[in-house]
Amino acid sequence: MVRTYQHEPFTNFKDEKNQELFQEALSYVNTQLGKTYPLIINGERIETDEKTTSINPSNKKEVIGYVSLANQELAEKAMNAALEAFVDWKKWKAEDRANILFRAAAMLRRRKHEFSAYLVKEAGKPWNEADADTAEAIDFIEYYGRQMLELTKGQPVNSRPGEYNQYNYVPLGVGVIISPFNFPLAIMAGTAIAAIVTGNTILLKPADATPVVAAKFVELMEEAGLPKGVLNFIPGKGSIIGDYLVEHPKTRFVSFTGSREVGCRIYERAAKVQSGQIWLKRVIAEMGGKDTVLVDRDADLELAASSIVYSAFGFSGQKCSAGSRAVIHEDVYDEVVEKVVSLTKTLKVGNPESVDTYMGPVIHQASFDKIMKYIEIGRTEGDLLVGGEGDSSNGFFVQPTVFGNIHQDARLMKEEIFGPVVAVCKARDFDHMLEIANNTDYGLTGAVLSNTRANIERAREEFHVGNLYFNRGCTGAIVGYQPFGGFNMSGTDSKAGGPDYLLLHMQAKTTSEMF
Ligand code: GLU
Repeated sequence: MVRTYQHEPFTNFKDEKNQELFQEALSYVNTQLGKTYPLIINGERIETDEKTTSINPSNKKEVIGYVSLANQELAEKAMNAALEAFVDWKKWKAEDRANILFRAAAMLRRRKHEFSAYLVKEAGKPWNEADADTAEAIDFIEYYGRQMLELTKGQPVNSRPGEYNQYNYVPLGVGVIISPFNFPLAIMAGTAIAAIVTGNTILLKPADATPVVAAKFVELMEEAGLPKGVLNFIPGKGSIIGDYLVEHPKTRFVSFTGSREVGCRIYERAAKVQSGQIWLKRVIAEMGGKDTVLVDRDADLELAASSIVYSAFGFSGQKCSAGSRAVIHEDVYDEVVEKVVSLTKTLKVGNPESVDTYMGPVIHQASFDKIMKYIEIGRTEGDLLVGGEGDSSNGFFVQPTVFGNIHQDARLMKEEIFGPVVAVCKARDFDHMLEIANNTDYGLTGAVLSNTRANIERAREEFHVGNLYFNRGCTGAIVGYQPFGGFNMSGTDSKAGGPDYLLLHMQAKTTSEMF
């Protein structure tokens, strides 16, 4: 019997032994830098002339790896490989597919720090964030393996005398998986694995900035016994192979995590039925957020301040779940803001390779430039209370930045920045707090710090987000515990790590037999 699912524990880096082990992993990964990584199509390694150079965002000069890029011809080759592999893979018993996952999870657990060290180097994640990313990848694999075993039981339906009805789920076909840089292991692996374990075959296009950790994961899946052609690894430019594959008549579904702009583009292009296409494509989209931490007048103010700070600045605010706005009751506004500012000043910003760094860089120059532009906008929209500086000379570092007295309709309150910037806004009462909480196009996460039961229950009903947290921060959903996904422009509310996620990759079939 498969052991009951429990999430992977986080590593305690206060323990010196763990520090040593992690340092060893970093040293090992340092010996692996600068390698080249091919495409993998039907198990075949294909090196292309055109390559992307993956760099360390803390130190632009350091190359993590050179990764081959697919063109349309190779994307077509990958599509054909996936179509061919689907014929056999869809017939595999769910249990056999799940067993590959369980083996992969065990292998990843054994190499946990190594993968986390790649995340430190390639994504600029501090140790604890990297560790959480790897733990979440393990969780997705373990959880979806178990979910698949459950799904094979089908759903009960009624039968009349002399009749036998069954209701079962079957795979869809070839899926295109487009994954983000901010959880380059967890979301990449989670979206890929969900599609695979349900009997589909995939084309995996990892984020441009973080292809090496994805390549390492694909190697691991091969070692775990995944048959060739099931997972085809095709890094490439969105404009060249992204659109091509989204529009491809043989693409059955697209699973995308990334920006709202790209998500909407995919949704629109996937909707158009192409010549030779005999189905309506499915799109699973996880897009942006403009997430709010609400602080009620009777909240624990220390907890409120730390919830605001850690939700805003974890992984430099590069999470769609990041608490990029705080709305504080006017009675406690000054006190909370003071605590937020002093806590923010204690955060150590720097190279994430050092154990005591709280916040590393942002991912690349374009992201740095965008964040700095928003900091300029912030200066005109409110009071800069702390931070505001950036330095991209060696790596892409932005100081954690807090703006106070921001109007509820200001750009800083409405637009996703995806960086370490939090806008703080004052509210008259709880009605006003909820009004502001719901005033964006998004609806991903939110937090309410309150000790008034009636307000908590009201927020449960009226705060329109996919993941709502009480008396804690708004990031860090755990697979199988807090299924994750949002409303409105945050995406298709596909709850990753939840009990109905796998169904999005399948279609239900009814059979009815007369005896
Ligand atoms: N699942 C993550 C969290 O709860 C966020 C994922 C994302 O940013 O895409 O913080």
